[in-house]
Amino acid sequence: MGDRRSVTPRGLGERLNEARAQGRTQRCRYGAAVYERITDDVAGLSRGAVAFPEREPPALVPAFPAIARVVALGEGARRHLAGPFRAEEKIDGFNVRVARERGETLAFTRGGFACPFTTDRLPDLADFGSLFREEPDAVVGAEVAGAGSPYLRAQARHYSDDVALFAFDLSRLGGREPEPLARRDALFERHGIPRAPELLRCDRCDDAAREMLRALALELDAYRAEGMILKPEAGSRRLKYVTPSVNLGDIAADAGLLAELGEGFFTSRALRFIIGARELGAGDRLGEFERGLGSTLSEGMQRTLAQIEAEGKVYEDLAVRVRDPAAAEGLVAHLNRSSRLVQAHELWREPDGAHTRVGIRKVLLRSTSYLKSLLRGDPIVD
Ligand code: ATP
Repeated sequence: MGDRRSVTPRGLGERLNEARAQGRTQRCRYGAAVYERITDDVAGLSRGAVAFPEREPPALVPAFPAIARVVALGEGARRHLAGPFRAEEKIDGFNVRVARERGETLAFTRGGFACPFTTDRLPDLADFGSLFREEPDAVVGAEVAGAGSPYLRAQARHYSDDVALFAFDLSRLGGREPEPLARRDALFERHGIPRAPELLRCDRCDDAAREMLRALALELDAYRAEGMILKPEAGSRRLKYVTPSVNLGDIAADAGLLAELGEGFFTSRALRFIIGARELGAGDRLGEFERGLGSTLSEGMQRTLAQIEAEGKVYEDLAVRVRDPAAAEGLVAHLNRSSRLVQAHELWREPDGAHTRVGIRKVLLRSTSYLKSLLRGDPIVD
C-alpha cells in the first residue's frame, strides 16, 4: 500500500496534485472539517485514503489495508508468524478510521467517506476527546458492530441491540506503520477507549502455540465469534482467520442474494468451512454442513423469490438510532452514493429518548432485475 509506507508531507502535496489532475479525488465537507477522499489508487495513494487539504502541509489518513486470510490456521501461523504475537477477536462489524480535523471527530469508511451514522454516534460509543487532546494526529482503527448497524445484517454473535465500538489499531496522520501494540494498548487504556478483546499471547509460534490457536478457534466457533486476527508484537503484518461456523452463517444469511454476490461467494465459504472443520477435528460439524447446506440455500432463494413475486423487489429493512435526526438523511444519501446497486429510502422515524429511531429500506437492484428477468422468461445466454 503506497500510503502505508511513507508519505512525507511534501511528497503528499505533490501526490495530491497528481491525483486531482487525474480526477481521482473528491472534496467533501463535514461540519467545520474539509477532507478529500482518494477515489481510486493513484500516485502511490490507495483508494479510501483521506487527505486534510486545509492543513499546511496537508495530512493523510492512510487507507485501511486488506488483511491476508489464512484458511489452514496451524500451517498459516507456522509459516507466517516468527516472533512474539497475539490473537485478538475479529469483530463482525464494519471498519472505521477515527481522526480529528478542525475540532470534528470523524469516522471514515473504507471508501473514505465520513460515515454520517458513525460520526453522529461517536459520542455514544467512546470518549475520544481526551485521546485526541493528547494525540491530535492519532488515527484509531475500529470495528463498529451490533444489531443497529446500517451496513450489516444480523451477526451470529450478539454485540449489542444498538451498536458498539471496538478499537484495534492506532496509527498516525502521515501514513507511517501502525504504532507498536504495547503503545496502542497503553493509550487506549489511559483514555478508556473500548477495545477488541485480546485472546492469546505467545512468545513464539511453536507446536504448543499452534495447539492453543486451534483450541481457541474451536472456542470462538462455539460462541459464534467471527474469528481472530493474528498480530506480531512488532511490525504491521496481520493475518485473519474466520471460524468454520461463520462461513456457514454467511451462506445462510446471503443464500438469496446470488445475483449480488456471485457463485464464488458460496463455493469459497463452503471450502473454508470444510478445511476449517477438518483441521479442528470438528467432524460433527461436517454432518451439520452436509444436511444443512441444501435447506439453507433453498430457503434463502425461496425467501427472495417470494419477495420478488409479492412486492416486485428484493430488499432488506433495517432500523438504526441516531442522535441528530439530520444524520438519518445523511445516512440514506450516503447509502445511495456509496453503491450503485443499492437504493435506500427512509420508511419511518420515531423518538427514542434523546435519540431518534429510523427505519430504512435498502432495495437491492441487481438481485431485483436479475430475478425479475428470470421469472418473466427472458432468454439468457450463459
Ligand atoms: P471481512 O474479513 O470481515 O470479510 P474484509 O473483506 O473487508 O472483511 P479485510 O479487508 O481483510 O476484510 O479487513 C479485515 C477486517 O477485519 C477489517 O474490516 C477490520 O476492521 C476487521 N477487524 C475486526 N476485528 C479486528 C481486529 N481485532 N483487528 C484488526 N481488524 C479487525
